[in-house]
Amino acid sequence: MKAAARTKTPRKHAFKKASNNSLKDPVGVYCRVRPVGVSNQECCIEVISSTTVQVHSPDGYRIARNGEYKEVQYSFKEVFSTSISQKHVFDVVAKPLVEDLIRGKNGLLFTYGVTGSGKTHTMTGSPGEGGLLPRCLDMIFNSIAPFQAKRYVFKLDDKNGVEVQCEVDALLERQKREALPVPKTLGKRQVDPEIADMINVQDNCRLEDVDEDSVYSVFVSYIEIYNNYIYDLLDESPLDPTKPKWNNCGTPLRNADFTFPQSKILREDQNHNMYVAGCTEVEVKSTEEAFEVFWRGQKKRRIAHTQLNRESSRSHSVFLIKLAQAPLNADGDNVLQEKELISLSQLSLVDLAGSERTNRTKAEGNRLREAGNINQSLMTLRTCIEALRENQTYGTNKMVPYRDSKLTHLFKNYFDGEGKVRMIVCVNPKAEDYDESLQVMRFAEITQEVEVARPADKPLCGLTPGRRFKNEAFREELSRQLEIRGGPVDGDRGPLVRELLLQNFPPVPSCELLDINDDQTLPRLIEVLEKRHHIRQNLSEEFAKNVLCVKNMLQELDASIVSKENFAQVKIAEREKIITGQKTEIERLEKKARTLEYKIDILEKTTAIYEEEKRNLQQELESKSQKLQRQVSDKRRLEARLQGMVTETTMKWEKECERRVAAKQLEMQNKLWVKDEKLKQLKAIVTEPKSNKPERPSREKDREKALQRSLSPPPVPNAPPVRLRHRRSRSAGERWVDHKPPSNIQTETVMQPQVPHAIMVTSANEKALAKCDKYMLTHQELASDGEIETKLIKGDVFKTRGGGQAVQFTEIETLKQESPTGRKRRSSPSSPRPPEEASESEWTDVETRCSVAVEMKAGSHLGPGYQHHAQPKRRKP
Ligand code: ADP
Ligand code: MG
Repeated sequence: MKAAARTKTPRKHAFKKASNNSLKDPVGVYCRVRPVGVSNQECCIEVISSTTVQVHSPDGYRIARNGEYKEVQYSFKEVFSTSISQKHVFDVVAKPLVEDLIRGKNGLLFTYGVTGSGKTHTMTGSPGEGGLLPRCLDMIFNSIAPFQAKRYVFKLDDKNGVEVQCEVDALLERQKREALPVPKTLGKRQVDPEIADMINVQDNCRLEDVDEDSVYSVFVSYIEIYNNYIYDLLDESPLDPTKPKWNNCGTPLRNADFTFPQSKILREDQNHNMYVAGCTEVEVKSTEEAFEVFWRGQKKRRIAHTQLNRESSRSHSVFLIKLAQAPLNADGDNVLQEKELISLSQLSLVDLAGSERTNRTKAEGNRLREAGNINQSLMTLRTCIEALRENQTYGTNKMVPYRDSKLTHLFKNYFDGEGKVRMIVCVNPKAEDYDESLQVMRFAEITQEVEVARPADKPLCGLTPGRRFKNEAFREELSRQLEIRGGPVDGDRGPLVRELLLQNFPPVPSCELLDINDDQTLPRLIEVLEKRHHIRQNLSEEFAKNVLCVKNMLQELDASIVSKENFAQVKIAEREKIITGQKTEIERLEKKARTLEYKIDILEKTTAIYEEEKRNLQQELESKSQKLQRQVSDKRRLEARLQGMVTETTMKWEKECERRVAAKQLEMQNKLWVKDEKLKQLKAIVTEPKSNKPERPSREKDREKALQRSLSPPPVPNAPPVRLRHRRSRSAGERWVDHKPPSNIQTETVMQPQVPHAIMVTSANEKALAKCDKYMLTHQELASDGEIETKLIKGDVFKTRGGGQAVQFTEIETLKQESPTGRKRRSSPSSPRPPEEASESEWTDVETRCSVAVEMKAGSHLGPGYQHHAQPKRRKP
């Protein structure tokens, strides 16, 4: 049997507005399918469009479930098939987050999926194929490179805040730190080839409209969450030997020679943002430097996993990029130090632990507990997402359990506050991952429905834009002009000029007059002074000229600035025009959206009506099919009953026939016996000599009696006795001959015919008859209902004239057994019994007697209807 199920991820309305009037965006969920490892491996996931994947049950799964076949489609914001490059993934998913970061907004990007599905490949990349992390760094530095602040101008405090130091303080700190031994990353410009391979991105991606009137600085930190403990992977501080070393569960290790840092705690800052207290944050000035820091942490992580026997797939790694920015002052030559003008935005890149369930890794003991904890954090993430979705969809106010795990607690503000959240669901299409991939897809489906408040645009500092440009242009122009005029280009050349000037001025000779005739000193002095005066005049003129020149320059500069301002204003006007046009377009689109929403509403209502109708029809169909089934089963029952009745009746009639045959046989045997007897007697009569007629011998008398007896049934009660001589007196006390043929069966009924003082005989006996005056023959035969019928044929004994005895039959008493339940009892020994009944016979004999009533019909004495019910009488086995 094959069953195919098709479902589709429900699409959300694109124009959903948050209750607090701020716009919300759904969490952007993307799906990346990695290439299969072996070429002919069985797959269970196919990319069927740029937004949809189809998951179907693999062969093994189908066989295990009687061929049941499932096919489910899941939709995402975008699906990246195996051929999609790292650059494309970056452009679609991470680039907008970097743009936001530079504009002062927060972002969270995480990869989710089972181990081996390509999370790390997507986030970090492989040699030659840099992932999202190096690409984000590259774009950041490409964009802010010309506007980077000098090192230590920005200073992060330990409370998730930032401040600006003045240039002098920053310079002092620089000198102080540079005097220390150089940290591994600083100053070392020879990039590790492994790192170079990962960051060799070369697409020179940048944000064009960076606010150039600000200065920027990048800080990175790298943490790991393992077993619900947070570790700082950049912590370089030498381990304090007095402090214990820690194991996976945050408890001290004995005899450990590995120096892994203590676990960190989470704190909440004054803006209710979560941060890792005491976490190392390194200021970096280039992609290379930043990635080197990351790589250092990565190495540390690997060492920790090996030394502490951890399972690396079970840890979450979080790389945090913080971007500090502050505006320049009005002159565009110094950074403003006002706290409210400084902004700090953050982009968190999270490579989550493998989402597979614990049993897949076959972990045991401690490892299992750790795995459980890590799984717990993913579970908590799922629970939080579900609670958020429920609250947002149904307007409920369910508590979101962020605090249940460090992972969710750290990112609480992204969901509660504002920011952009994106998730890449990584899947390996191989058949073995089918079950896990389904779980991943379901989580992704729910996550897509969660909405996060869109961060507001940061207000401008209020100073005129273009300050940095003005300042730089002025400086450039000034030095250019000075260069043209051969004047000092910058302050550094001042001493040289002074030197030159000093050389041009001839030194004043000594003016001391040694005698009256000295006619050289004064003329020489006059000459030098005149010369100096002349030079001075020249310099004054030069100075005046220069002043004039500078004045002209300034005027020109002013004019150019004015023209530029005018130009800018024209441009602004143009932009405003464009903005107005766009606003109108937005209004039009909103109107269209409203109309479409209305249409969707109507369509939804119609769908609801049709669905209702469909449900009703289905119900009706179900009830009808149930009725039909009932009827069919009734018919079957009836058939079975009729069949039973037919069999029963057939059996009954078969038995009846058997019984009748048996009765007939008995009757015929009786008749045969009578005839035999007659023939014997006749033969005797014929063969015996006919002498002594009056005094017949006793044998003859016997024969006569026997003949009379044999003719007894049917008796003739009212016929006069043949040659009746006399009858014995009854008052003298009747004496009975009780004739019971040996073929008779003991019926064992309670009511037994009892004749006191009777002479018991088994065949006709002349001597006994001579002594008695009453005769009773017990005759048994099979009645039509199969019961034994006992007849007591009674008669009077007369002396015949010949000296013999004759019996005149006077009455028949019939004794009969009957079953009140209608159950027939066969007691005739001649009638055949089925074998199974025979085995029951003993029981039947006793038990039947318990329940069977005895009916005795006495021909004339008792009258019809006299009945006696037998009492149960148990026969011992
Ligand atoms: P995860 O971090 O989810 O456990 P990895 O990123 O380590 O998985 O990927 C496992 C292996 O698959 C790696 O060798 C990686 O190079 C390879 N891989 C994953 N995704 C891709 C992809 N899109 N293209 C090429 N190779 C990939
Ligand atoms: Mg990984």
